[in-house]
Amino acid sequence: MRPFRYERATDPAGAVALLARSPQAAFLGGGTNLVDLMKLDVARPDLLVDLRGVTSRTIEELPDGGVRVGAGVSNSDLAADPLIRRRCPVVAQAVLGGASTQLRNLATVGGNLLQRTRCGYFQDVSTACNKREPGTGCSAIEGHNRDLAVLGSSPDCIATHPSDLAVALVAVDAAVRTVGPDGSRVIPLTELHRLPGSDPQHDNVLAHGELITAVDLPPLPFAANSRYRKIRDRASYAFALVSVAAAVDLVDGQVRDVRIALGGVAHKPWRATRAEDLLRGGPLTEQRLRRAAEAELVDARPQSDNAFKVPLARNAIVRTLLDLAGE
Ligand code: SF4
Repeated sequence: MRPFRYERATDPAGAVALLARSPQAAFLGGGTNLVDLMKLDVARPDLLVDLRGVTSRTIEELPDGGVRVGAGVSNSDLAADPLIRRRCPVVAQAVLGGASTQLRNLATVGGNLLQRTRCGYFQDVSTACNKREPGTGCSAIEGHNRDLAVLGSSPDCIATHPSDLAVALVAVDAAVRTVGPDGSRVIPLTELHRLPGSDPQHDNVLAHGELITAVDLPPLPFAANSRYRKIRDRASYAFALVSVAAAVDLVDGQVRDVRIALGGVAHKPWRATRAEDLLRGGPLTEQRLRRAAEAELVDARPQSDNAFKVPLARNAIVRTLLDLAGE
């Protein structure tokens, strides 16, 4: 591991000011991804700004009925919180579907959203990777790409985003609150992560030094009827081949409203708006679900080893929504 400096701040503004000292500086949350990448020489920060004691570790109900989750809340505390489990079970299920108990105890909500892809080439500094070293090429396109994207990829990168939590948060219309050198802002989760395009080195829209301070879950009553389904190569401690986060508002058998997001298929959590639009206003039948899922996946462009993800995603959407309908 390369040498680096270490600083602690006492509040978000102080952390932002410390980070501004170097373009190579990085925030340190739980460290469960960043420290691994430093050991692999993939991440080379010259300064780490520790966020312990800086970002909130509380989960609170807001006056409008929403819920605010501090960015410093551990993944374990988020999954165990009674308010989250009652209001948004999909969030608790997604968190419990990821990592191990030990990692969830350390990993923070903010850090979970900003974890980097697990593309094997990205983590191997002996290979070409546009995300790690822009302009060097993408080893995955002609290489091992079974785990990688089928939607929204580019000729420069076909990586997937690894977070389960981010997929669930996209499905319940969550937003992140940030503070940075240019002030504070609120970013919908659907806009936090980005597609790779020609600059896949950027996973998200945050500026250097912009700190996530909280995640807001809006009042969405039907989020109580939500579910996360994760399909992976083994029963635990594995990233999603495909995952589905869904919530549905069913009235007299008709879909009044619905949210669907996919994980494991794109460079960002994939909000399935096309499928949602087709499902609203009609019954939640298997036939309609299949049609909606197929419409969502019509633009899928699988790689040499991952065409199986397209029917897997389609079937996962159908099964997850049928489960929510009680069938
Ligand atoms: Fe790098 Fe993206 Fe290609 Fe993986 S898919 S090797 S992360 S450029």
